[in-house]
Amino acid sequence: MSLKPDTKLMHAGRDPQAFHGFVNPPVVHASTVLYPDVETMIGGKQAYSYGRRGTPTTNSLEAAIAELEGAAGAKLANSGLNAIALALLSCVKSGDHILLADTVYGPTRHFADTVLPGFGVSVEYYDPAIAGGIKALFRPETTAVFVEAPGSLTFEMQDLPAIAAAAREIDATVLADNTWASPLYCQPLSLGADLSIQACTKYIVGHSDAMLGSIAANERAWPKLQALHGAMGSHVAPDDVFLGLRGLRTLSVRLEQHRKNTLAVLDWLKDQPHVGKIRYPALAADPGYEIWKRDFSGSSGLCAFDFTEGASLQQTHAFLDALSLFGLGFSWGGFESLAIPVRLKGMRTATQTGENSQSVRLHIGLEDPEDLIKDLDKALRTAFPA
Ligand SMILES: *Cc1c(COP(=O)(O)O)cnc(C)c1O
Repeated sequence: MSLKPDTKLMHAGRDPQAFHGFVNPPVVHASTVLYPDVETMIGGKQAYSYGRRGTPTTNSLEAAIAELEGAAGAKLANSGLNAIALALLSCVKSGDHILLADTVYGPTRHFADTVLPGFGVSVEYYDPAIAGGIKALFRPETTAVFVEAPGSLTFEMQDLPAIAAAAREIDATVLADNTWASPLYCQPLSLGADLSIQACTKYIVGHSDAMLGSIAANERAWPKLQALHGAMGSHVAPDDVFLGLRGLRTLSVRLEQHRKNTLAVLDWLKDQPHVGKIRYPALAADPGYEIWKRDFSGSSGLCAFDFTEGASLQQTHAFLDALSLFGLGFSWGGFESLAIPVRLKGMRTATQTGENSQSVRLHIGLEDPEDLIKDLDKALRTAFPA
């Protein structure tokens, strides 16, 4: 029976009868696993061998994520950034050339720029609007292409199917950071990616109380990912995995409310004086709208806007300081609304996007949007007194 996404979300990774009927799997704290006899011990057939190699708790979340992403397998990582690092390390070697979208999450760029070159990997950035034109950047030694849609801070969509089709011609691995959409609203593997990465810290955990990442792989990428993950000794503590499993079950209802609240807030925000461009691909006026509509089945609560030309840094700061319901804090995906100043200066190398504009990134939480609008209104009036 093929299940709808919301039904999958309730059942994925659960096997109550394997645990005396309890609805949720046990939270297994473990290092050593005992064997009944030496033959079993050396035979390698026992389901569990050592805590680091997996437990019923980690297996449950891995199985759930693999099912939701439509993957051959999935591994957990101790943060979203760690998932990105492991995924990249699983598909590059000395001498390789890799391509990353200019709009990748800042710490992804930091990892690529500071760690990979030391291992002989050359890193190049491309315009996220490149689509099939990425072929022009391919070299004989190009082995991986990293996509993130929408892009961090500036929210450009990317034509993943076109990029993946081009990469397939040279047998390069395609990695996609799928955090904004979550596996519920986009399945990059079905669009041609080989590895789909989640910062589960965001919407899967969903309550700002744990760090967690995941990497889902298709048949082609799975053996290398599994081997690298094992070799690196990666392991996530069981209580954090439990928070991921718990968050997963309400992902759909939370995301639906984030989406509604975001649309309500942006619908108001777009008409305010001093508010310029809104960055959110699920709006018909957004340049990424057509791709978003084609590839995604929903939208989440992270967006940004620019102030109109002439706004100063001081005004952006005054706006942020005047907010009271929106917290000033990094990360996103929890139940609460957050705001940060967007600072792009010197960050990007392949494109010039809004380097000189004053912008704010918002995470629209699960509060009543009328209250959020009042908070934003008060902040706008403080920053731009009549
Ligand atoms: C936050 C974030 C990450 C990193 O996740 P952490 O769990 O904070 O390490 C990766 N990608 C995107 C798009 C993010 O927003």
